[in-house]
Amino acid sequence: MRPDLTTTPTAAALRDQILHHLTHTQGRGPEFATVFDWRLAVSYTVRDLMVGPWVQAIRAARDQGAKRVYYLSMEFLIGRILGDAIINLNLEPAMGEALSLLGLDEQVILDDEPDAALGNGGLGRLAACFMESLSSLNCPAFGYGIRYEHGLFRQRFEGGQQVETPEDWLNQPHPWEFVRINYSYEIGFKGHVDTVDGRAVWHPGESVIARAYDTPVIGWGGDWANTLRLWGALPTTLLDLSRFNAGDHTAAAEPEALARTLSRVLYPDDTTESGKELRLKQEYFLTSAALQDILARFLAEHGDLEILPEKVAIQLNDTHPAIAGPELIRLLMDQHGLGFERAQDLARRTLNYTNHTLLPEALERWSTWLMGRVLPRHMQIIQMIDEDHRRTTNRPAHIGIVHGDQVHMGELAFIMAGRVNGVSALHTDLVKDTVFADLHRLHPDRIVNQTNGVTPRRWLRMANPALTRLMDDTIGTGWTADLDQLKELAAHADDAGFLQHLHGAKRANKAALSNGLLAGLGVRADPDAIFDVQVKRIHEYKRQLLNVLEAIALWHRIHEDPNGDWTPRVKIFGGKAAPGYWLAKSVIHLINDVATTINADPVTRDLLQIAYPPNYNVSMAEDLIPAADLSEQISTAGKEASGTGNMKFTMNGALTIGTLDGANVEIREHVGAENFFLFGLTAEEAAAERARPGHARRAIEASEDMKIALQLIAEGRFGRAESYYALLDRTWNDDPFLVASDFDAYFAAQRAVDRAYADQAGWDRMAALNIARSGFFSSDRTIRGYMRDIWHAVPVVPA
Ligand SMILES: *Cc1c(COP(=O)(O)O)cnc(C)c1O
Repeated sequence: MRPDLTTTPTAAALRDQILHHLTHTQGRGPEFATVFDWRLAVSYTVRDLMVGPWVQAIRAARDQGAKRVYYLSMEFLIGRILGDAIINLNLEPAMGEALSLLGLDEQVILDDEPDAALGNGGLGRLAACFMESLSSLNCPAFGYGIRYEHGLFRQRFEGGQQVETPEDWLNQPHPWEFVRINYSYEIGFKGHVDTVDGRAVWHPGESVIARAYDTPVIGWGGDWANTLRLWGALPTTLLDLSRFNAGDHTAAAEPEALARTLSRVLYPDDTTESGKELRLKQEYFLTSAALQDILARFLAEHGDLEILPEKVAIQLNDTHPAIAGPELIRLLMDQHGLGFERAQDLARRTLNYTNHTLLPEALERWSTWLMGRVLPRHMQIIQMIDEDHRRTTNRPAHIGIVHGDQVHMGELAFIMAGRVNGVSALHTDLVKDTVFADLHRLHPDRIVNQTNGVTPRRWLRMANPALTRLMDDTIGTGWTADLDQLKELAAHADDAGFLQHLHGAKRANKAALSNGLLAGLGVRADPDAIFDVQVKRIHEYKRQLLNVLEAIALWHRIHEDPNGDWTPRVKIFGGKAAPGYWLAKSVIHLINDVATTINADPVTRDLLQIAYPPNYNVSMAEDLIPAADLSEQISTAGKEASGTGNMKFTMNGALTIGTLDGANVEIREHVGAENFFLFGLTAEEAAAERARPGHARRAIEASEDMKIALQLIAEGRFGRAESYYALLDRTWNDDPFLVASDFDAYFAAQRAVDRAYADQAGWDRMAALNIARSGFFSSDRTIRGYMRDIWHAVPVVPA
């Protein structure tokens, strides 16, 4: 039976198709099928329904000669695909019915899918939300990334400490992808550059093949799908047969082993670069494969390179693919015979760059020695770009791409981009004033803002069915494609019946979390307590330390007055630390040690509980965020570029306790200052405070609560004190992220949260207004902004 592509299939049709795939694709009879077999059969059934719109979309883009958007990213933190595809294809309730006809539990099937965790955190998740919005908006686009065999490591806790184990999502068939053996490109490294008849000829010393693996990304409504094309590395020669025949079997497989390492692992660090040759090779591998593919498609359709910028817009997600500038110039010059000036001009009108961080340790730099050795031709071109920029701008000597023996990838990306964008209003201002102040002065029109967003399909409609039902019943379903429609909910913010339902939806989500994940950890979480959630990568600037110190101080205060009027609270943490980031790992250890002590305390047990479920990922976020009352967005002002977790919480009706950092600023403007718990220094004040010698010690001495919290750790009340000497020493003597300076303001804001939560109707009203005013934070709005201001791309209507 062929699936019907024009109307939504019935439950019976879906059931038949699932049975067909179980038998003919999985080779299993129903009586022998495992959950895994069924899940694959269901996935193939759903995939069948994606393929029609996908092929049509690709055909429409080609036939109409449409401009295409290419999103280059080292990370795509996709999560599970099946549930999202079912939602976007409008397969509910038919799919649920089909599965019950087969005697299957839909949730069990959905939960069987491993997360595609090809990213570390926010940057990779942004790329995934963008892919979904691009499809939902009919914008012809490709995402390009690496098909890592091992995604982000799995996290376990042993004695409260993080232990990493490899992730192996490809240890089983990945039903969503199509391997394209005819889309393969050779990627060179090392070697030397000759000059032949005045032209440069690069003779790579090593090379590998990049092979395309395509996954369709279906948009909301199911009539458009774009392609996520991930590159896997293959050896140019599979086996050195002469060595094999000579009996040297291990050496014979060397070329294969060398190539495979390129797409083996995701670098498990989202802020600092390891400086490893392999990382540079991975970045070039992705970038070169993508650009060769883009040029091949462009030339097949258009031929005339002069119109490249009219038909192609390339977005670099951070500096990781910044080698795209020199690589595109190299391809245009060395393979297509253009001169440097013309190649550079075309490249600059085609490329754009998104900056994601101001943290100095996260700005990529490579030594000229390494760049020259791994990519000798690119090192030459980088010098040509730098020299040309110096000449044409008359810039001061301290500005440029190559400084001493370092290549600065941020400067390279900026100089080669038509547009450079920040990811929140505040961040964009800081980009102009700090990292790129000099380049901004030379190119005052280049930097623009595009505040991040998240897709409401995954983060509301899929993750929060209880709230979705209430919203559909109250204002209809139009909000799914047009999130601004949520503002119609504001009219119901004073309607006691509506607030009751809203409260009921949140409470149901909390009860499910409490009986599921939290019960599994042995944490007693009363669904009527505040669920206070901080989930994100563990990093000093995100200040999980501030949160756990507040928990200790609160615990101590409750002990002083156990019969006081306390608001019961469950603090939930989630997140991974980079394996080499030992201070962050010591914060994880501390949170777990504090949880062990506090959770077992009979005096405070019903008032304060701490849960830290291990292995935070997209799927866990989908369970935690809809159950949150309070969203912790407490980074040191000036350090979080945007945040996207903050947006997911807001649209799910959690109130934010937060600093004026990243997109928090805009969230507060939208939801209203009276519906947001603000505390802490501003970015400007924080910079001034940091410059004052002795700021940490002075702030701690002035704060009784903070002093006691640190003292209790130092006394060994939570595990061995020695485990925390380094953390304590840094907090007393250095504290670059100003935990101490913001502590009292944070503690006071938390007590304001307690009081507000005690007024249930008042809290529910604030939650309703947060949801109603969160429409701006849809990634559809963000993508429309990129299309209008950066890509000059328009939606395509399939024939
Ligand atoms: C949204 C998301 C992030 C980003 O969270 P921030 O709070 O913005 O840092 C990280 N990881 C996962 C799994 C997410 O879903």
